[in-house]
Amino acid sequence: MSLSRKCSNCRRWNTDHDYCVHCGAFLNHDSEIREKELVQIKRNLELNTDRMDKLIERLRQSDTFVGRLAYYVVRSMWYVAVIFLTFIYALIALIAG
Ligand SMILES: [Zn+2]
Repeated sequence: MSLSRKCSNCRRWNTDHDYCVHCGAFLNHDSEIREKELVQIKRNLELNTDRMDKLIERLRQSDTFVGRLAYYVVRSMWYVAVIFLTFIYALIALIAG
């Protein structure tokens, strides 16, 4: 049995769709909320990535010794983390056989 919904935007009937096939408006309120949350999460992720990239680039090109030192410390910590994770993955693979 199919579910029919009336679009609140254009007042036409639709069958089993989350979106109105006539005007594109949301018919399912849960889908609309999820879509808006997904867009917000993507926007926040892009914003945070941009901030981190800008901070790292600013540290790398810093005129002060402390700024450049902070860049190399962060970079070294990243390499240590990658080596540590590689070791853990290799250990898990070794144990699993
Ligand atoms: Zn519509």
